[in-house]
Amino acid sequence: MNAETPQKRIAIFGSTGSIGTQALEVIAANPGLFSAEVLTAHHNDELLVQQALQFNPNIVVIVDEKKYQKVKQALAHTDIKVFSGEKSLEEVASMDCFDLMLAAIVGYAGLKPTLCAINKGKVIALANKETLVVAGDIIMRKAVENRVPIIPVDSEHSAIFQCLVGETRNKIEKVLLTASGGPFLGRKPNYLVNVKREHALQHPNWSMGAKITIDSATLMNKGLEMIEAKWLFNLKPEQIQVVVHPQSIIHSMVQFEDGSIKAQMGLPDMKLPIQYALAFPRRIPNQFPRADFKKINTLSFEEPDIKTFRNLALAMDALQKGGNLPCIMNAANEVAVFAFLHNRISFLDMTDVIEKTMAGVSFIANPTLEEYFESDGEARNFAADIIKL
Ligand code: NDP
Ligand code: MG
Repeated sequence: MNAETPQKRIAIFGSTGSIGTQALEVIAANPGLFSAEVLTAHHNDELLVQQALQFNPNIVVIVDEKKYQKVKQALAHTDIKVFSGEKSLEEVASMDCFDLMLAAIVGYAGLKPTLCAINKGKVIALANKETLVVAGDIIMRKAVENRVPIIPVDSEHSAIFQCLVGETRNKIEKVLLTASGGPFLGRKPNYLVNVKREHALQHPNWSMGAKITIDSATLMNKGLEMIEAKWLFNLKPEQIQVVVHPQSIIHSMVQFEDGSIKAQMGLPDMKLPIQYALAFPRRIPNQFPRADFKKINTLSFEEPDIKTFRNLALAMDALQKGGNLPCIMNAANEVAVFAFLHNRISFLDMTDVIEKTMAGVSFIANPTLEEYFESDGEARNFAADIIKL
């Protein structure tokens, strides 16, 4: 351990996912700086046990109660505590055994544990963008009240955050949120109508969990990220511009009042923003591959096609209207993506489900936390009814 910087105790909520496993690689490479104190999984008991045996955390949570005995038995010879059930995520998130929560659960399920950690004053490294999409106003207010820094992990937001270091007194004119365009960049509805699950799961630049990979293919991911950017950086909708940049080298840009633009660049590798968030405010060395500008001969930019990728247009509408509309949209999207991944609806059907749900569930301009929870439930039922799930 480094005498100047005490080891940071990390809780990884969603340790068995794409972000979670990459975060553990970062921790393994820097044992003097970080320790993994909490690991959580939904169903994947085998990977959770394997991670627990390697990292020797204080606590593991297996949300799926059917797997509890298996995990408990596999770790019986250790002093690792095993928790199970959905509620235990909130219980563990409220404990004192860690300093920083990496919020890497996918979807709405990440909201409540993250809120508990904020209420306990823990630093949040935020991968779970849905938390801010659903209840960004409340999350940011609680973070200010509890003096909790929220450090983005999402590559675009990490880029913006990095561009803003040293700029606290300077006003942002706008942010340019870059988008790869996903696997169907340039395609039209006559092509998308036949797209299958396997096809949509192939992302050209990033290897990620299934849900965000589908969101990237529909451009909903960029819509969620616009809302995430609004809350993280206190922006007005008109200050957020999406730019399609297929090479994913520029991870996003900030334009200041003098017209100057700062960009953060690098190869597309989530370990970099994960490491940055865990080590912030320090930058620490690593062995990740470096960008070579002799090989990168094109950086290109174009407008997103929101007529074809209507999910992005719907998200822009939700961003503009605010209230519980982003929460409703997020819930409908989670249901639609789940149905698409289970071959229940087509690629383009996802947009119809979201659009109808946004129109069908009652709008609330200034929801309470309870009302966000209710809107989420209502929207899920509404969307499931359309799909007949
Ligand atoms: P994955 O699907 O790969 O992993 C999700 C993790 O959350 C797993 O540990 C999973 O457990 C757990 N989980 C899933 N559902 C629940 C639930 N209902 N309750 C508790 N735990 C649950 O997702 P990613 O790692 O790709 O994404 C995580 C978050 O980070 C998402 O919000 C995503 O938008 C965001 N993000 C991801 C990026 C990426 O490159 N992957 C980039 C930027 C942001 P189990 O394995 O047991 O199912
Ligand atoms: Mg992103």
